[in-house]
Amino acid sequence: MSETNDSDQTTVQNPVDQHESISPPEQHQDPPGLDSEMTPTADLGEESYTGADRLAGRRALITGADSGIGAAVAIAFAREGADVALAYTPAEQSDAERIAGLVRDAGRTAVLLPGDLLDRDYRNGLVDRAATELGGLDILVNNAGKQVAVETLEELTDEQVEQTFDINIVAMYALSRAALKHLPAGGAIINTTSIQAYEPSPTLLDYAATKAAINAFTKGLAQQLAERGIRVNAVAPGPIWTPLQVSGGQPKEALPEFGKSTPLGRAGQPAELAPAYVFLASAESSYVLGETLNVNGGMPAP
Ligand code: NAD
Ligand code: MG
Repeated sequence: MSETNDSDQTTVQNPVDQHESISPPEQHQDPPGLDSEMTPTADLGEESYTGADRLAGRRALITGADSGIGAAVAIAFAREGADVALAYTPAEQSDAERIAGLVRDAGRTAVLLPGDLLDRDYRNGLVDRAATELGGLDILVNNAGKQVAVETLEELTDEQVEQTFDINIVAMYALSRAALKHLPAGGAIINTTSIQAYEPSPTLLDYAATKAAINAFTKGLAQQLAERGIRVNAVAPGPIWTPLQVSGGQPKEALPEFGKSTPLGRAGQPAELAPAYVFLASAESSYVLGETLNVNGGMPAP
């Protein structure tokens, strides 16, 4: 784990150095990449997140739950009292098993559901499988994402554009639709969007467009589901140190400076995202619908 202050997430600290300002060496993994092979490894809140029964007895499906932001959310949800189904690709089995172990250490059930969201059979069956294994479903976190930087539009293939859209946004329609069979009043859908929705990088034309679409999907669906008592919201991270970034998400020359241009002057750690998801999943946010909660080190966002 990177140098970090291990006191729990509610102890007041100076956010400038609550987590170390990392300068990661240039590195590359084939996507989706492994959390265990990052230098430095990320802080998922393993040593720090302290729960307070905010999600006692609830059941959550989290996509991309093996690593990065999704893994930090899985750990936090379990420590808040929720049982968790983790979706991820088969290549990420080792990362997923570590997170499942942490969920079980918290005394909660962890269900492992590996598969590829580009595979229609897997995608269409995922939510029902999670609900069957967990005995119901209260929370869906649509967090899986593909981000591959490409220098020019000429080099950006239709195949990449279609896959990025399929994984990042088209899957959200299918998973959210399937979840409606299970989510009770009081249920929540939380989508992961990005600062890229508002400040698109010139090298992320496909990715940034999916993230803007996620914001619009979130705001529209929130209105549609409000009267059923199901709240839909999104979290928009800024630069967060995760495997996505070392597996093509950034040009590798950019990694040593990753996150340094934010007002806080450092990249965020996945552990710093988890409380936003806990808030949006819990009854504490009962009057918050269609919101995008920016967690980005201070970059101005709407
Ligand atoms: P991550 O690599 O840890 O998580 C992304 C996950 O997506 C992977 O673990 C993988 O399980 C899943 N995934 C990718 N392709 C898949 C496929 N074909 N089928 C099934 N699952 C697949 O990285 P992360 O940064 O924690 O990403 C989580 C979310 O956060 C993504 O939606 C990403 O766009 C978003 N986000 C990240 C940042 C950042 O700086 N890291 C910033 C803004 C938004
Ligand atoms: Mg992963």
